[in-house]
Amino acid sequence: MAMGKNALNWQVVAREGEARAGLLQTRRALVETPVFMPVGTAGTVKGMRFESLESPELDARIILGNTYHLWLRPGAEVIRACGGLHRFTSWERALLTDSGGFQVWSLGALRKLREEGVEFRSHVDGSARFLSPEVSMEVQAALGSEIVMAFDECAPGEASHEEARVSLELTARWAARSRRRFDELQREAEGFGDAGRTPEHHPAVNGEQALFGIVQGAAHADLRRESLARTVEVGFDGYAIGGLSVGEEKPVMYDTIEMLAPLMPTDRPRYLMGVGTPEDLLEAVARGVDMFDCVLPTRNARTGQAFTARGKLNIKNARWTTDTRPLDSSCACSVCRRHSRAYLRHLYTTGEMLGGMLLTHHNLAFFLDTMRRVRQAIRSGDFTRFRREFLERYRSGVE
Ligand SMILES: [Zn+2]
Repeated sequence: MAMGKNALNWQVVAREGEARAGLLQTRRALVETPVFMPVGTAGTVKGMRFESLESPELDARIILGNTYHLWLRPGAEVIRACGGLHRFTSWERALLTDSGGFQVWSLGALRKLREEGVEFRSHVDGSARFLSPEVSMEVQAALGSEIVMAFDECAPGEASHEEARVSLELTARWAARSRRRFDELQREAEGFGDAGRTPEHHPAVNGEQALFGIVQGAAHADLRRESLARTVEVGFDGYAIGGLSVGEEKPVMYDTIEMLAPLMPTDRPRYLMGVGTPEDLLEAVARGVDMFDCVLPTRNARTGQAFTARGKLNIKNARWTTDTRPLDSSCACSVCRRHSRAYLRHLYTTGEMLGGMLLTHHNLAFFLDTMRRVRQAIRSGDFTRFRREFLERYRSGVE
């Protein structure tokens, strides 16, 4: 199984029950797991300067880029011409790019699914587009992310057994096609392939990307197990659980992770895609997940919602009008050290740009700090107690 040389190294450094603390070495950053990856949809974590993401306060080591959005705008050719997504954005730490499969799936009726790939209309200019495992691998090679995701098909959370099976079969065939095209591109970039050296095509790649496979199967345990077996058969550098948090009930999500994670290869990182709330993160870590991404801390910040140690706080609420306390008295972030709820509410209600920026900063600080504490707890064998106390407090409500 061809893997980019030194593309990725991951090792477990501590365990408690199913929970694992690990070290993920990519060619650009050492990432401690369990890790929360802020979502940088279109080459930006909305409202955040890169200096803030890199600051000791947040210290994000890896962020996400969305293939679908970057492919449509500014386009793979533009990013390739600018030397890849790292150089284009000046983000020098690790990047994971998704395959575009989920965004295309989200288009629902606007897309046309075929064996070869997915036809859809661009939400930007209405142009006809076609995304396939091969195209996704080519775009992600141009982006030059450390971690590339296989192109998959997602079934809705409530998908019937038959629907989920059809989707799983397609995902398995697309996984093999993703693997094949990815390996070709890596060999080309290394200069050992039949195509010869083509650095002008992939200046940022150097044959050092890693590829993750995605397990589907909706809420059906037998299909999840089968999807896992077939994904492992293709062979990947890491394994993701896809198709959760897409409309199913919480217990279904937790049960699926609990059943699936222990069956996944123990020597590869496990990534739960698109999840979730602080509670979800702790519950999934306890069940053996190592990596997460979610738009919640950034998207919800822009609609006035803060995450705190005592749960969610809606900054629009009139009760904060003259409240001089910080968002979260137990948070050490620069927003909580400096600004009051009253001021943040004022910024939000007057539509000031800074309001969303400050809430985004705090929310990311809270998510990243929570994961830091999770890692420490696992390393010191104290995760069970940490999880219980964190969740009790989180559910106690904001004062
Ligand atoms: Zn804060």
